[in-house]
Amino acid sequence: MILPLPAHAPGVLTIDLATIAANWRALASHVAPAECAAVVKADAYGLGAARVIPALADAGCRTFFVATAEEALEARALAPDARILVLDGVLTGGTAALVTSAATPVLSTPDEIADWRAATKAAGRRLPAALHVDSGLNRLGLEASAIETLVREPLRLDGLDVRLVMSHLASADDPADPKNMRQLAAFRERTAKLPQALRSLAASDGLMLGQAFHFDLVRPGYAIYGGQAFRGGETPVSPAITLEARVLQVRDVAPGETVGYSGSWTAARRSRIAIVAAGYADGIPRTLSGSSYRVKFGSETASIVGRVSMDLITIDVTDVKHPVARGDLAMLLGPGLSIESMGQAAGTIGYEILTRLGRRFHRVYAPS
Ligand SMILES: *Cc1c(COP(=O)(O)O)cnc(C)c1O
Repeated sequence: MILPLPAHAPGVLTIDLATIAANWRALASHVAPAECAAVVKADAYGLGAARVIPALADAGCRTFFVATAEEALEARALAPDARILVLDGVLTGGTAALVTSAATPVLSTPDEIADWRAATKAAGRRLPAALHVDSGLNRLGLEASAIETLVREPLRLDGLDVRLVMSHLASADDPADPKNMRQLAAFRERTAKLPQALRSLAASDGLMLGQAFHFDLVRPGYAIYGGQAFRGGETPVSPAITLEARVLQVRDVAPGETVGYSGSWTAARRSRIAIVAAGYADGIPRTLSGSSYRVKFGSETASIVGRVSMDLITIDVTDVKHPVARGDLAMLLGPGLSIESMGQAAGTIGYEILTRLGRRFHRVYAPS
């Protein structure tokens, strides 16, 4: 933790911008000569686009992906010279913010293409566009039939400056999944028919699948923030956040007494319980209640007992040797406590833990 922490702060989320920049550089060198973009949607995965985007731009990142036009406007103010792509594409009637932010929408349907062409006509100049082709995820992306139509009727892209053609992998975290190679083949085949443009297939996990998946540009998000979802081996990134929360009270509980809502935990012996200022309103999943997840007091660990409530968790510190006292900090995430391990214990994934960390924590950006 970096001091000073305001005395009234219930917890502190420390975000290491130097590690985030180093992670981006490590990914960029892993994929060179392909370009490494940065996905900074959802407020840079909850870590604060206002700080993360300038740090990545300083590290040399030139291309940023956001999800929404609103996020593009924010990103444009932070990175005036960058290329900014909007993954949600064009919403009905929603072209103005894209033009204002000089963003490139990622177009996934014939209707979006038509809307963006209309915006081009209105602007009186060619506007940049990216095409998203589906290769088997069946989420966003042009379907095979829509691609055939574009191949037969190329005028449907007239007036658009198509700079990038991309697709997204369904199972890149598992290198043994045969779907990866099927999507690679589909992507090659579908992009070969479309106008020549830069190509992009891989996000954080896909770029670990080998050079064949890199194409011209990769688009990691999670790995830049230190996330390690790839199950095929070491990734060249390090965790970038630490989350600590204050002990508000320590109480003794007699055998047979219960702790928390619904009395879901019963003390089997005389127990010491630390009440800590973080709850599900801060992104600590309620499903962590009764799980195997252990938080840290210094080098010692302790279990969350009873229900995770909105603002509080209760921790059994009976066996913690160094006495736990009001005002101490419990470490919820940090060295040895990864977002993946919390996600797994809570029945979700590290991505969801990361992107939901609450706004009530005092945020420290290191180095600040
Ligand atoms: C979110 C997203 C990414 C980034 O994915 P990570 O797994 O966080 O690296 C890349 N491409 C698309 C289309 C996305 O939606």
